[in-house]
Amino acid sequence: IFNQGVALYVEDLKVSFDGFQALGGLSFTVGVGELRCIIGPNGAGKTTMMDCLTGKTRPDSGRIYFGSNLDLRRMSETNIARSGIGRKFQKPTVFEALTVYENLELALAGDRRARFAMRARLSADQRQRLDEVLATVHLKDERDRTAGLLSHGQKQWLEIGMLLAQDPKLLLLDEPVAGMTDEETERTAELFLSLEGKHSLVVVEHDMSFVGTLAGQHRTVTCLHQGKVLAEGTMAAVQSDEQVIEVYLGR
Ligand code: ADP
Repeated sequence: IFNQGVALYVEDLKVSFDGFQALGGLSFTVGVGELRCIIGPNGAGKTTMMDCLTGKTRPDSGRIYFGSNLDLRRMSETNIARSGIGRKFQKPTVFEALTVYENLELALAGDRRARFAMRARLSADQRQRLDEVLATVHLKDERDRTAGLLSHGQKQWLEIGMLLAQDPKLLLLDEPVAGMTDEETERTAELFLSLEGKHSLVVVEHDMSFVGTLAGQHRTVTCLHQGKVLAEGTMAAVQSDEQVIEVYLGR
């Protein structure tokens, strides 16, 4: 059911900062509904890659296509976000003074003023969607809780819920389990696996046991090094790749 089409197509992407090459010809493809993990040592270019995908950093050359025909290099950050790409940064940025549900309403409405304007006017469909999102992100019982009182992991889930409220086609997740307890990490893996097929996901992560859980035996893992793909394949294949071992353990 996956890979029926291409969600994300990246070809020969190059980015330099003051003569230093952060991306040196990065190419990879993510299928529609695929859950892709991206690993790589510090400085490999993971953040720069994510910044290029959201339009925050403009590559010097290369191509990025979203879906069958959207040329992301020609689009503004705002239009990229509107086209269905949601990014979650490492640090949660929920509205701490609002309840969990209000945060989701806000995400759906787009901005604070719009939220108050539409408050009583969420359609039945929208309410149903938010209820589904609450269940997906394990926050059904916290619906009316002030977001500031949630645990670190719950705040991360809420932020993922806020992205889901906008029904993105592609979710970009930057070290999503950093700082989580083991139990939260396990439930986050469950959460991502439940999104596979409905959304395409790109997860950049350092925690190898988490990546192992997500990738299982058949999903593709991409390992970056020096701004390029060093190895790509199943977790078992990537982990036993000699170049990967050298980059992680050697030198
Ligand atoms: P990763 O996220 O994999 O750790 P980054 O994409 O953050 O890697 O960084 C890749 C390389 O580019 C690093 O060597 C980093 O120092 C450099 N770099 C990233 N952003 C900038 C910037 N704005 N200015 C100069 N150098 C940068």
